[in-house]
Amino acid sequence: NSFLDLNLSRPLLRACEALGYQKPTPIQAACIPLALSGRDICGSAITGSGKTAAFSLPALERLLYRPKRIPAIRVLILTPARELAVQIHSMIEKLAQFTDIRCCLVVGGLSTKVQEAALRSMPDIVVATPGRIIDHLRNSMSVGLEDLAILILDEADRLLELGFSAEIQELIRFCPKRRQTMLFSATMTEEVDALVQLSLIKPARLEA
Ligand code: AMP
Repeated sequence: NSFLDLNLSRPLLRACEALGYQKPTPIQAACIPLALSGRDICGSAITGSGKTAAFSLPALERLLYRPKRIPAIRVLILTPARELAVQIHSMIEKLAQFTDIRCCLVVGGLSTKVQEAALRSMPDIVVATPGRIIDHLRNSMSVGLEDLAILILDEADRLLELGFSAEIQELIRFCPKRRQTMLFSATMTEEVDALVQLSLIKPARLEA
């Protein structure tokens, strides 16, 4: 039960070491190998379980071993609230510190113009709240998700409680059909299950 057993590249192992992570948490040990194999993931996991690194590390690894042909957004992480997005973004910056992978934050309350410029520069990873990223996708010809490889829906139960169901469905229509999707939720309600049916294909189910 060590990060060394998880088939992660050196820059990611170095980052885990720099963060003081000695061994993977249970959700990380379960999620990382499955996610690296390309499976869709449906995880019930709460904050504090280490779920952010559980989805971020395999996403980063897949970006590293499949170098991009052209600059494009390849991972989108959707989360219900601005402060969660800020935390995930900061975690990813730390995990990616020894790589050249770029991550950008797209949330309400920040300048739309600045974010538009950041998105146009085609960061590899975007961490967003639903309203703001939808605005950009609807209104900007230059921001698209045609090359998206991985969609991550974080805190799906809260996303739905906050009434973002329509936004998520619209967002999924902007994503390629052929992609990997990971969904995490503290609770598995009927509504969450409906979203799982809509957005995931034969997911591996994990609990932490
Ligand atoms: P999360 O559940 O993703 O919000 O993470 C909760 C906290 O656990 C964060 O402060 C992480 O930095 C920390 N953490 C994540 N993975 C590990 C690990 N493998 N070992 C120690 N701490 C960790």
